[in-house]
Amino acid sequence: MESIGSVALVTGASSGIGKAIAEQYVREGTAVVLADLDDVLGHQVEQELRDMGGAVKYVRCDVSSPDDNERAVEAAVREFGRLDYAVNNAGIAGAGAPTADYPIDAWQRVIDVNLSGAFYGMRAQIRAMLAGGGGAIVNVSSILGQVGYAGAPAYVAAKHGLVGLTKATALDYAAQGIRVNAVGPGFIETPMIANVTQTDAIKAAIVAQHPIGRLGQAHEVAELVCFLTSSKASFITGSYYAVDGGFLAR
Ligand code: NAP
Repeated sequence: MESIGSVALVTGASSGIGKAIAEQYVREGTAVVLADLDDVLGHQVEQELRDMGGAVKYVRCDVSSPDDNERAVEAAVREFGRLDYAVNNAGIAGAGAPTADYPIDAWQRVIDVNLSGAFYGMRAQIRAMLAGGGGAIVNVSSILGQVGYAGAPAYVAAKHGLVGLTKATALDYAAQGIRVNAVGPGFIETPMIANVTQTDAIKAAIVAQHPIGRLGQAHEVAELVCFLTSSKASFITGSYYAVDGGFLAR
């Protein structure tokens, strides 16, 4: 077994924000387990990061499965000997519809992935971290973990729930050396929002909600996430940090 420094697990690591977080960890010399759904894309990203010099391992993991989350953590321990950091980032936008019209299966899937996924993830991650003497977790919520958004009841509910789950878990493990925080991105240019920013008019309306005058970039979220898991954030736990170009300050 290879023995190295810090080891991170990132869910939803094949695309967008998760991929940027994995890249940032690689640049910092942290080994990374990439957990995602699509084997072809996952192995492609794994190779890209190895080409950057990273110690990385892709593992197929549907975060809505408790067993898959267990297997992802086992892969980290098997490949790299321990788990220090975990980023529960995988998420889906879900359907767009008002509450009374929201399809029940779509509601269930958004809750399963965006909220239960992080719960299943942390159950497995925390056990490994306790065995290793501590660790740090970041849950990727959203600005919509703090405010509502018309037509997105499941997403808003899941992201609010994730902030509460973060706080409760932080209190459970604060004295045992595990810090747990949430980040709340504004609109970030990733495949997730490609649909909603298709027309210039809609994109301009969304940009206008961000006082900084543009959408965010995935690497700007990655910087915050990697800071929060690092020892530089050693007194920070149970908190929510927006990275939103001023969206929530309005
Ligand atoms: P993205 O580009 O769509 O990336 C999300 C990744 O998660 C994809 O690789 C996706 O795989 C994967 N994924 C989806 N369901 C999964 C599951 N059940 N198990 C494992 N992996 C799964 O989206 P993103 O913008 O980077 O979003 C990352 C996180 O940031 C999400 O939690 C999102 O809610 C949050 N966020 C994003 C924004 C934004 O504006 N982009 C704003 C606030 C918060 P597939 O592509 O195969 O589905």
